[in-house]
Amino acid sequence: MTFDELGLDAELVQAVKAEGYTTPTPIQVQAIPYVLQGRDVLGCAQTGTGKTAAFALPTLQRLAASTPGGPPKIRCLVVTPTRELATQVAESFETYGSGLDLYVTAIFGGVGQDKQVKELRQGVDILVATPGRLLDLMNQRLVSLQAVEVLVLDEADRMLDMGFIHDVKKILAVLPTQRQTLFFSATMPDEIQSLVKSILKNPARVAVAPVSSTAERVEQKVFFVHGGDKRSLLVKLLEDPSVARALVFTEMKHVANRVMEHLEKAGVTAAAIHGNKSQSARERALEGFKTGTVRVLVATDVAARGIDVEQISHVINYDLPNVPETYVHRIGRTARAGTSGEAWSFCEEGEDRDFLRDIERVTRQKIPVAPTPALPPRASRDEQDQGPRGRPPGGGGRGGGGGHGARSGQGARNGGGQGGQRPGGGAGRSGQGGRNGGQGGQRPGGGDGRQEPSRGQPSGGSGRPGGGGRSGGRRGGRGGRGGRDPGGP
Ligand code: AMP
Repeated sequence: MTFDELGLDAELVQAVKAEGYTTPTPIQVQAIPYVLQGRDVLGCAQTGTGKTAAFALPTLQRLAASTPGGPPKIRCLVVTPTRELATQVAESFETYGSGLDLYVTAIFGGVGQDKQVKELRQGVDILVATPGRLLDLMNQRLVSLQAVEVLVLDEADRMLDMGFIHDVKKILAVLPTQRQTLFFSATMPDEIQSLVKSILKNPARVAVAPVSSTAERVEQKVFFVHGGDKRSLLVKLLEDPSVARALVFTEMKHVANRVMEHLEKAGVTAAAIHGNKSQSARERALEGFKTGTVRVLVATDVAARGIDVEQISHVINYDLPNVPETYVHRIGRTARAGTSGEAWSFCEEGEDRDFLRDIERVTRQKIPVAPTPALPPRASRDEQDQGPRGRPPGGGGRGGGGGHGARSGQGARNGGGQGGQRPGGGAGRSGQGGRNGGQGGQRPGGGDGRQEPSRGQPSGGSGRPGGGGRSGGRRGGRGGRGGRDPGGP
């Protein structure tokens, strides 16, 4: 099955191909045709299965097929339990819909509401929201859901676990009854089933194996290590000949480069891929990795998207991700197609311990601790590859306060700088312009249009990536629909 065969429009097929997706995942194959038919869908699928594209692609197609005149109204509402997921889902809509004339925004708690309200006032077609902030803005009459045609409830069981189910019910109560509802949940406890019965009409049911089964197949280990010893540890572990093909994840692009250089010096064939590399350099690196001339590929998460290489024997988290789902995605690169694989993670003192605990909670597994082998004396500070990893000056805790229990860290693209934000922001797209910025919504030149996480840059500011724009993927202005800032300063 290919994306072309699923009945998707050319712009959308083009967008997924540009993301490097070659074939639709099982949940996409199952769900997309039903969503395109306008059916309600009950999807039993976890993050990591490709479920976001399963609902986003056909929904974009539906919305693009009929654009009512006038300023945009919220025609699709996606409710998610956490701000990280909200951000990721909004980005997916932006990425896949980059060739369409539709506006997407995410709203969530833990950050000031002003920027979010401003975005809403400008008009959006697709709103991705966490329940608490959405209700809050609804109560202030700052958001209207009267035009919603498609409702997506994402990770419904997590919303239940996190105590949001009453908020969700309040939101449901004001939505138009004539709508399409897409409901995704990894598990179906009784309370979820009764919600399903009350809100879905004759749903098509689709289900795929949970990601946790991937996590269960992968043998995982964690090494506690000082940041300055990570490179030596990596080289030491690579002495093991069973590490035939390893994918090493770093959070920052410059660290990926330095690790790669260090490995080469140690006689290990390595290549690095990240957002600063040209397309041809990335392709060359990937080709070498596939054919085996490159034993270790060092990558950032964004660059590693869509990498489809079989028989990766080891995934090594040189830096632990701050979002547990990212960990699950990463380790799912090994143990493909029923084979076994190993995932090794380096964990430093400090916030890494919190990340590890969160990962263990989400995967519902305790990761065994491996003894750290004897290493050569530590490199001097300026030879170490870690930038300052700390929080911005004056930064506080992780959660940003007042949120939905979600962690900070994906770069609050709508939010003001919370003291506890991870520095520099992250998942947002680089915006040479964005919707209000100077470039009239042009796609940013070069690269893949996304800003990679810049952990360690103690910007401390707004958490907004790059030049402040957030929807760098939009083409052109909004022309005839009116009511919007066309993008000029
Ligand atoms: P999700 O389950 O929606 O969080 O998606 C998990 C990851 O899979 C995301 O990083 C997507 O970019 C990626 N992805 C989604 N669909 C595909 C596909 N058909 N091929 C390869 N990667 C995909």
